[in-house]
Amino acid sequence: MAVTSMRRFDLSEWKRSPHLTDLRRTVAGLLAEGRHRTALDEVLRALRRDPENLDGLFVALSVLAQSRTTRLASPEPLTEMQQWSALLAPITTACSACDARWYSTHAVLFADNDVQFQPTNPIGMQCQKCRYTLCRDCLKAQRPTSYTASVDAPEVVAGSCANTACDGRGLSVPVLPTGRPDATPMDPAAIEGVLVVRDGPIRPTTDDALAVVTRFLPLISDDAPLLHIRRARPGTMSDNATRDALARSLLLDLEREGALAPDSWGRSRRMHILAGPGGDGDYLIVPVQKSLRRLPPATPHAASGPGTYTYLLQILPLRGSWATLRDPRTGDFHEGTFGALSAPAESLPGIAQEIIKRFERMGQSRRVMFFEGDYTQEQGLTTDDVYGIVTEGSTSLSPYSEGAE
Ligand SMILES: [Zn+2]
Ligand SMILES: [Zn+2]
Repeated sequence: MAVTSMRRFDLSEWKRSPHLTDLRRTVAGLLAEGRHRTALDEVLRALRRDPENLDGLFVALSVLAQSRTTRLASPEPLTEMQQWSALLAPITTACSACDARWYSTHAVLFADNDVQFQPTNPIGMQCQKCRYTLCRDCLKAQRPTSYTASVDAPEVVAGSCANTACDGRGLSVPVLPTGRPDATPMDPAAIEGVLVVRDGPIRPTTDDALAVVTRFLPLISDDAPLLHIRRARPGTMSDNATRDALARSLLLDLEREGALAPDSWGRSRRMHILAGPGGDGDYLIVPVQKSLRRLPPATPHAASGPGTYTYLLQILPLRGSWATLRDPRTGDFHEGTFGALSAPAESLPGIAQEIIKRFERMGQSRRVMFFEGDYTQEQGLTTDDVYGIVTEGSTSLSPYSEGAE
């Protein structure tokens, strides 16, 4: 993911074209109708195709620069997810001292007015040399309390640059984009898939997952099909080592299902997000870069395309009948014994043998039942729905029959 490297937008690199680009024309029309959300969606789609498109970044800033009241009165207000998209990281201004982020309108105002202007009550101040930035709250904290000056009084210069190597003067305006320290530039076209895991018993919805993913990766809602959403059992996300082990095993599952090309671990990055933007729990986000190796051509005699199946491993205790393995604490099926996969029907026996092998330590006879479709989010799996069974060592799928061994 090396072709995309821009960390922050520089106005000096942007040249106003004498001709309106299609994007500008579309966005201007939508804004005139008050359709802010659709306008920003258009911009995000354009940036998704070309994240370093300067015109796209400038237009995004002008949508975000519309006054807050105008936007709130809009029949289509912007969504949180849109506003904090990683695609907008290059136009974000971040406080150098705390977590505050905002979109400073100064770049747009300076571009649209040749005259110097003095924004009153700015959200922050910036070193004009190195872009060290402090938000209003951090500026207040840095300055001794004054009993005479009104809090709202505009200040020309306040605070000072804390970068020791910088000999910039005090902080002032304009405040220009700094980029976001937590967003790494990445080429969206190079992303093969993203594993999204939330700590806890409930699998996140697509919307939950998108809210977190779009904040840190240059993807948009249209990319939902790239996400592989999972939940994490207790204790599997407690530290780096357990998170890596979890990611590794889930990536292997995805490779087995044909959802990712082989050796995905080597092309992945693990991002641990504490209490996602929705405050709904910790996330592990694992973007996987596309493999540079070309995929082998499809085998000519592959009879069918992939289908979706649910697998369930069973064991045969010494005394008794076929049984499932359950976690004594949660009552859920034991990790790795139950899940959904996408694969051609003819590959199911091979997949079953791999699952059976993983539970070798159980010692007992094992078999894997397959159900057609994804039953992982549903209750009440019944033997009537069994698509086929693969017993240990078997290379074929047999139909389910009562008491079959
Ligand atoms: Zn701050
Ligand atoms: Zn400085």
